[in-house]
Amino acid sequence: MTLLETNILTCPNCSKFVQVLEVLSFHIFESEVYSDGKADTTPIMPNTSRILICPECNKEFWLEDAKNILDNEIISDEIKDVATPTELFSVKNSDNLLGLSLYYKRLLDDQFAKTTDRESYLRILLWHELNNIVRYNIPIRNEVLVQCDKMIFENLVQLVKIFNPVYLEEKLMLAEMYRELGEFDFAIEILKTIEDDYLNDRKEELLTACKKKTTKVFKLKNN
Ligand SMILES: [Zn+2]
Repeated sequence: MTLLETNILTCPNCSKFVQVLEVLSFHIFESEVYSDGKADTTPIMPNTSRILICPECNKEFWLEDAKNILDNEIISDEIKDVATPTELFSVKNSDNLLGLSLYYKRLLDDQFAKTTDRESYLRILLWHELNNIVRYNIPIRNEVLVQCDKMIFENLVQLVKIFNPVYLEEKLMLAEMYRELGEFDFAIEILKTIEDDYLNDRKEELLTACKKKTTKVFKLKNN
């Protein structure tokens, strides 16, 4: 069962009221998990994001920076919905396959993420988005693929410096970052420290990929 709630926020940039949907509970029937940690669920997860775009001033802000407003403080009844980055780029065409990735890259270049936690979050979004081309086998021109691979590499080089795994699943992600960078020995070293029955099958699949010296994202057989 999916439970959604509408929250009213004030935009930290322009101070206008905006509204955002928050997911209170969500039941997943099935999921496909990829080596980079991305999971495609059935039904599709409602679109939630820590990065939001204000419909009033069109600027991005972090959800946690916006003040929650109680209903009884509301003075206007025409409150617009925020957008998320994925909604902005929901229509993909062959000229714009890297559109969302370049948008995330611009946010990074503009210092939108001022803490390592935020930078990690944004770089993981960028990584997963760039990996979608291989993940979903999207046909693209060779020069776009070259640009994409370069962006994955440059992003991962920065991401491994700041990503601080807390959960074992995040350790798997760190190992995967090193595997995709071609640093197989590092990746294997990290994988060997993960001892957990629940994650053992995933760990073995990543170890096999390291031993084969492959660097592309792939769908895990064991979710
Ligand atoms: Zn605003």
